[in-house]
Amino acid sequence: MLVNLKDLSLEGIEALIAGLGKERYRARQIMRWLYCHGASSFEEMTDLAKELRAELGRMARISSPEPLAEERAADGTRKYLFGLEDGNQVESVLIPDDSRLTLCISTQAGCAMGCRFCLTGRGGFARDLSSGEILDQILGVTKGLGPGERISNCVLMGMGEPLANYDNVKQALGIMATDLGCGLSRRRITLSTVGLIPQIKRLFAEGVPCRLAISLNATTQKVRSYLMPISRRYPLSTLLAACRSLPLPPRERITFEYVLIQGVNDSTEDARRLTRILRGIRCKVNLIPFNECPGILFRRPQEKTILRFQKVLLEAGYTTIIRESRGGTISAACGQLRVRIRGS
Ligand code: SAH
Ligand code: SF4
Repeated sequence: MLVNLKDLSLEGIEALIAGLGKERYRARQIMRWLYCHGASSFEEMTDLAKELRAELGRMARISSPEPLAEERAADGTRKYLFGLEDGNQVESVLIPDDSRLTLCISTQAGCAMGCRFCLTGRGGFARDLSSGEILDQILGVTKGLGPGERISNCVLMGMGEPLANYDNVKQALGIMATDLGCGLSRRRITLSTVGLIPQIKRLFAEGVPCRLAISLNATTQKVRSYLMPISRRYPLSTLLAACRSLPLPPRERITFEYVLIQGVNDSTEDARRLTRILRGIRCKVNLIPFNECPGILFRRPQEKTILRFQKVLLEAGYTTIIRESRGGTISAACGQLRVRIRGS
């Protein structure tokens, strides 16, 4: 099949254009058509000569993202199901919050990490998404937005482990964060990872435009490797040591996500231990009460347990918020949860 233009970086499109013997700046025009105007055909690119459009059409194609289904919850959350060309499906969730419109996107069809509490993990791994498939979730959702609505933030917290699909995610983020692309600034993009240490270091070394969130979910190696098999390969202590040495930009903090599961990781002792193991890391903590789902036997802790856990962290000086599931019944298959700050 012809290459999808959205799977190419700016340099890739420049090479394509150079191959046709045309001016390099045409590549920038094409990028603007794809990402600023959401073009899905060459005919729309009216500032390119007809002949060039025809030549491009023989060498490349443009995917046209249409959600297969869209569901709306009473709280304003919208969930989208995208069908990929090979029949796989992924989800994206749009979350309105005060002045923000945050889109949670997927980076893989399925996930190979096998975390015990996660529906995506239970379903197994199908394949990596291409850069174009990652970006098409933003473009497909944008197409259906109302007047005046614009995606302001993007979180990589849908299906899949973004850092297990490093190259495609890096390329997609590069495009997301430029004016030629989706125009989201680096500070408005958050990548959440299970904790793949070499790739976390690479993100910083290569200046990939995103903030970092790490799913911690436990305070001991024993519990973490029970919940998250990847912890056997990248132990908790090594992960925390790596976090300590990351070259974080000034005033920026790492977000640690901690899914609270009744009787597994929600004790006061856990909360105290968390305050100790995070000491010295510039960070904030998002507590996520376990979102109960069919087939997974874990339970959400009681409200008072959640608040007690938060209180220990707040008293130790950590910015700690509780993120609630958003969208009620429709949110069950996506890990993204709304931010709600509760009183201390
Ligand atoms: N693979 C990445 C990003 C996708 S998962 C990661 O693991 O970070 C996004 C978030 O959803 C993670 O913090 C994960 O711990 C959380 N999550 C997964 N299943 C959940 C559930 N059933 N209830 C609450 N949070 C869940
Ligand atoms: Fe994969 Fe993240 Fe789910 Fe773990 S929590 S199985 S890494 S999607």
